[in-house]
Formats: sequence, structure tokens, C-alpha cells
Amino acid sequence: TPLSHIRNFSIVAHIDHGKSTLADRLIQSTDLVVRRDMKEQMLDAMDIERERGITIKANTVRLDYTAENGEQYVLNLIDTPGHVDFAYEVSRSMRAVEGSLLVVDSTQGVEAQTLANVYQAIDANHEIVPVLNKIDLPASDCDRVAEQIEDVIGIDASDAIRVSAKTGVGIKETLEAIVHRLPAPRGVEDAPLKAMLVDSWYDSYLGVVVLVRIMDGRMKKGDQIRMMQTGARYGVDRIGVFRPAMENVDSLGPGEIGFITASIKQVRDTKVGDTITHEKKGTDTALPGFKPSVPVVFCGLFPVDSAQFEDLRDAIEKLALNDASFSYEMETSAALGFGFRCGFLGLLHLEVIRDRIEREYDIELITTAPSVIYHVHMKDGTKIDLHNPADMPDPSNVDFVEEPRIKATILVPDEFLGDVLKLCQDRRGLQEDLTYVGGRAMAVYDLPLNEVVFDFYDRLKSVTKGYASFDYQLMGYRQDNLVKMSILVNDEPVDALSMMVHRDRAEMRGRSMCEKLKDLIPRHMFKIPVQAAIGGKVIARETIAALRKDVTAKCYGGDATRKRKLLDKQKAGKKKMRQFGKVDIPQEAFISALKMD
Ligand code: GDP
Ligand code: MG
Repeated sequence: TPLSHIRNFSIVAHIDHGKSTLADRLIQSTDLVVRRDMKEQMLDAMDIERERGITIKANTVRLDYTAENGEQYVLNLIDTPGHVDFAYEVSRSMRAVEGSLLVVDSTQGVEAQTLANVYQAIDANHEIVPVLNKIDLPASDCDRVAEQIEDVIGIDASDAIRVSAKTGVGIKETLEAIVHRLPAPRGVEDAPLKAMLVDSWYDSYLGVVVLVRIMDGRMKKGDQIRMMQTGARYGVDRIGVFRPAMENVDSLGPGEIGFITASIKQVRDTKVGDTITHEKKGTDTALPGFKPSVPVVFCGLFPVDSAQFEDLRDAIEKLALNDASFSYEMETSAALGFGFRCGFLGLLHLEVIRDRIEREYDIELITTAPSVIYHVHMKDGTKIDLHNPADMPDPSNVDFVEEPRIKATILVPDEFLGDVLKLCQDRRGLQEDLTYVGGRAMAVYDLPLNEVVFDFYDRLKSVTKGYASFDYQLMGYRQDNLVKMSILVNDEPVDALSMMVHRDRAEMRGRSMCEKLKDLIPRHMFKIPVQAAIGGKVIARETIAALRKDVTAKCYGGDATRKRKLLDKQKAGKKKMRQFGKVDIPQEAFISALKMD
């Protein structure tokens, strides 16, 4: 295909605005072969993604389209994830294409992720075609939303395409706009090979598959290639395109997007953003690279049944094979035994991995409170990156502590604004901006990431009845008065419950933790003190009263079946408990106790 007849694009949208539905429609209205292979919503590959309505791994499809002018075009769609945790994956796939469809639900309007994603497209110099979706719904208000796109984003929406991805209205117009309004890629066939490594993943049949965008030159099966950043050399075993099933081709030329396999052992051997060139007569100038995506949220994952530790190791290693942004190392906890300290891009990423371990590998997990990385500056001038509050050094040796901050953008209908501002204030937020756009407020806050990782998103949803949208970016580290709070149950510190808190809020958090644990830990035959402490100083205390003897006596009376049933129940329950000295703590306690109200 000549360059002039290739169009590479992505679709950016807020979650639920119809990106996947529109992608399906575009696919259906082009090639028959593709349609036959297509499952419902093919671009959302994994179950969890589908359930949550999000797309995690970037997916690609190549479509053949005969335009109204009779010419044959190749349209390459790269699907990008929509969630904040994956902003980095969005940014890198955007570098591989020249244009974007900006999909906005015409019954809703611009949301926080619309903004975050469209700014990424603008940064990547994309030509942007606004698409107003869901015009079949009575609540659709295209004029208002078009105006909002101009006001808030500052792009021309006068010729926005009005679409119903559901009924198919406007799909033809969308395809024509892709051909006529998006630019063709540029590139030189006779130049040395320069290909962008856009993404890579592990396929159980093919091994590591690499998604590439050819900038200059041509890549063929059998070519000897070199990755410029890592220096690694490979022979190209297989080269092809996604239609959406994998289909081999002889070669890929400038402007084209496709895949290669090359006996690469692990996903970790491929650096996203790397430049691939020929081993001989290669290029000297690499494409501008990407920063690697680094984990920002850490938590411990422990098997409920300690006999499953090896299974857990196996599951984690397999998942990490396909996800270079997920990190792990072994951890031992006095409270929870053997497990792993894992790093994630954000909370959703954490949830996705945890769900997959529980579901696909059938391992029940205890998850400790998510934590961020603190920079602990010691009095001797050294700096420690603290991933686990339990490892906080003795405060007398610590000079100061810094924590990561984010810039959060929240869009919300006016009526809920008061509650949102209060939530942000409660979480130590500093207001940076507050503006109104058509019945909705946009609040920009500087917030500590630590206050957001746990349940901020849930709280935001609940105080706004689900009407708020939220997006954030990491800003950097700032010093604050941060201390480690330990929790002692029956005078024994429970390492998995220790946390970093702001000094001013420590008493409040300590009290609330103790109160919750008092309810979560069942009574024992003896009195159990539950305490929160900073350094050696107790700042909050509750006591769990002892069980009265006659209660158990009654339980164990009665007939033998009942007794056995009770014992079975007890055994099952016991498995979910963790013993601390003489005290059993149910696993729910570890998560519930850390939730804030
Ligand atoms: P995504 O999260 O942006 O990928 O959104 P989806 O494509 O999954 O769509 C979210 C929901 O909106 C789904 O229930 C779709 O069926 C629905 N939807 C998408 N497009 C339209 C449309 O044009 N009209 C109507 N009525 N519903 C739509
Ligand atoms: Mg989707």
C-alpha cells in the first residue's frame, strides 16, 4: 500500500462513552474476513477488562476500506486503555499513529478521562476528529457538547461527526473522515530501517510478540535485527498484521503497523519505545525513547493458606512475564508468613492482578494496605526508598520524609461540588483551580498520592452518586510531617497493619483503626488490648472484652452432627484467620481496618 493510502489512528474517550462499540462498528463495516473472526467487542480481550468495561493492553486491528472515491485504504486502529493507571500505555501507543477520534458521549459531555486522553493526543501532534456518540438517546445534546469541547479542550468541534455506535448512524461519515481528515503517515522506503517497538506481550504459542510501527525502511521475514537501546540481536521468525486474527505478510514498509516474533525469551527483554533497525546497514539515529513505566503503588500479597505459597510464586511469575510494569519480590511478615511485595501502576492495576491470581490460579489472597514509595532522608545523609511501612527506620535516625503528590482533576455536577471539596480537604488536598463549565465544576487539587491510593475513588463515587470523573498525574515528592503508626494487638505489633500517616491526623486514624479492629477481631477467652502507637507512644486504645465461658459451653453441647458441623465451620473459619501470639485475626480485618470513613 502506498503511504498516501494508509491511515493510522487511535480512539480516545472517557470510560463508557462508546469507544469499544464504535471500534466494533468500524470493523464490521469494512472487511468480511475480519467480521468472521470477530468476537463480540474483540478489542477488550480479557474477562476482567470486559467486566469493568476497560481495555488494558493496547490492541491493534488492520482494516481494508474502500472509500466513496473508489480508492482502497488501509486503516490501522490502535486501541488504547482508558483508565488513569495506564496513562503511560496510552501515551506510547499514541506515538505510533498520526490521528485520533475523540469520542464524547453526547448525553454526558466531556469527562476527566476525556481531557487526560485528548491532551495525550495533542502532545503526540495528532490530528483530532471529534465524534459525538449516542445520538440515538433522547438525552443527547450535540450542540451543548460540541460547545463544551471547544470551551474546555479548545479544539474545533463545528464539524464533529454525530454518531450512534449502537444503530450505525454516522459510521460511514466516520470512516470518510478518517480517510480525508487524518494525515497519511510519512516515511522513506529506501532509508535504513527504523521501527518503533510499540508494545509486546507473551503468547503461549508464539512466545513474545512485538507490535511494531515502521517509520522508515522495510522489515522482512528472516531479517537480522537489532534493538538499539538494549543492543540485543534477533532474527525475524514471523511478520504479520492483525485482522484482528494474526495473518502473516512478507514484509512491512513505512507507515505500516504489525507484529514480529523473533525467539525473544521474555517481555522484559523488549523495551517499549525502543528503535528496531537492521543489524547491517542500520540507522544511527534512534527514535526518541520513552521513560519506562514505574510502579507507584505497593502492597503485600500473601496466600490465605500458607501451603499455596509456591502456587502463588508460580502465578506471579507467569503474570509478570506479560506485564513488565508489574514488579514483585519475596516478603516475609511475622503476621502473614511468606508472600510477595508487589508494585503496580495504580490501584486498578493492583485489583486486576489480584483478581487474576484469585480467579485464574484459584489462590485466596490476603492483600495488605496499598502504600506509596516514601523518600526517607536519614540524619547521616543517606536516602531510603521506603516501599513498606513496616521497614521504616527508627525515627531518631530520620531527618525528614517526603511523599509523592499528584495533580488530580475532578469533574462533577455542581450539586455535588461541596462534598467533593470536603473529601479533598479531608485528604490533605490543596485546591489549585476551580472552574465551571455548563452546569459542571472542574476542580484541580494537589493531593498526597497516599491519601488517594486506598479508597479515594470509591469515596468520590459514593459522595457524588457516581457522577464524578477523576484523573490524576504524578507531580513529584514533597516533605511533610509523616510518621509510622504501629498497631499492637495483645501487646504484639502486627506488621501488616503498620502505616505511614500525617502526624496531625495520626490520633484520628489510630482511634478509628482501634475501633474497627475491636469489632473485627472475635472475642477470645481473655481480654485483648488493641493499641495504636507512634514510636513507643500509645496514641489510641480499645479493649476487646473476654468471652463468657457459658457461651462456648452451650455451643459444644447438643448432638454429635451439630457438633461436627460447628467444628467444620470453625476449621474453615480458622484457615482464614492469622494467629498473633495468642490472638486470631480474620483476614477481612486487614483490609477493613484500613478503610477510612
Ligand atoms: P467504552 O468504555 O468507551 O469502550 O464504552 P463501550 O463501547 O463499552 O460502551 C459503553 C456502553 O454504552 C455500552 O453499554 C454500550 O452498549 C453503550 N453504547 C455505546 N455506544 C452507544 C450508542 O451510540 N448509543 C447507545 N444508546 N448506547 C451506546
Ligand atoms: Mg471499552
